[in-house]
Amino acid sequence: MFMGESEIVNRLTIVNDRISNACLNSGRKNDVLLLAVSKTKSADEIRVLWQAGVKNFGENYLQEALAKIDALHDCNDICWHFIGSLQSNKTKYIAEHFDWFHALDRLKIAQRLSEQRPNHLPPLNICIQVNIGSEATKSGVTGYHELLELTETVRKLPNLKLKGLMAIPIAESDPQKQLAEFEALRDTKTKLENQLSITLDTLSMGMSADLEQAIVAGSTIVRVGTALFGDRN
Ligand SMILES: *Cc1c(COP(=O)(O)O)cnc(C)c1O
Repeated sequence: MFMGESEIVNRLTIVNDRISNACLNSGRKNDVLLLAVSKTKSADEIRVLWQAGVKNFGENYLQEALAKIDALHDCNDICWHFIGSLQSNKTKYIAEHFDWFHALDRLKIAQRLSEQRPNHLPPLNICIQVNIGSEATKSGVTGYHELLELTETVRKLPNLKLKGLMAIPIAESDPQKQLAEFEALRDTKTKLENQLSITLDTLSMGMSADLEQAIVAGSTIVRVGTALFGDRN
């Protein structure tokens, strides 16, 4: 489905209103970054949102993402985020073409990304993906000890910049349960910060269906696909 330009822009207005209302309702200032998740969507659709002021785009599939980055090279203020899981033989492409990687879950990937980050680029921004609820089917770090170890390693790698934590909690029909999942990620971040005496500025959590609860729980980046672009192709 390719929506018309005005439809995409209308949807952006609705999503921005949802974000500002959620901030208002939780007494926060609106410092939430909208990451437009553009997987399966065309470069033309991305360009429409870019022209409407969105600068951050998230992709999950490497080949598809690289083709779009190339097609949109003239939009040089786009910030590209890779949010999907990554095989270690593909790290070079993330290191060379992206600004953020949200789904770090193991040491080997971190080491390769740091080694392969070109010198002329700033450090790659990193979120460690945490498996809140430890579901066997989802990726992400499971235990706190594992998270602690990975955090300490990433902080020592010269070409990575640890920004914070990311999670994709299981969808709950009860908004209170959904909120509790997001609060669990927030509390994990606080615990890590206290233990290591560090500050992490990013909680990457909340998608089309649950961005309100994520914002109440302290999200700083919401990753929104369907609510902006419609159903995926
Ligand atoms: C696809 C995807 C999203 C967007 O989901 P929507 O429900 O379409 O907003 C967000 N985060 C990740 C990691 C995704 O893979």
